[in-house]
Amino acid sequence: MTEATTPPPCPVCGKPMVQAYRPFCSRRCADIDLGRWFTGQYRVPADNDFNDMDENHTRRVDPDEEVG
Ligand SMILES: [Zn+2]
Repeated sequence: MTEATTPPPCPVCGKPMVQAYRPFCSRRCADIDLGRWFTGQYRVPADNDFNDMDENHTRRVDPDEEVG
């Protein structure tokens, strides 16, 4: 009983895959994946997503505005 190969990680969260929910680790991840397909997120490049997030992150209010 030696495990020569390890199951591929869950494509959603990266946890070890569970046979019952393969190729995912849980039903939740399977649902998430399905939802992505429905919302078309799979077609959006990751770069785009990061750009959006970056914009939100770098956008902060100037604390100096209150000074005066
Ligand atoms: Zn998962």
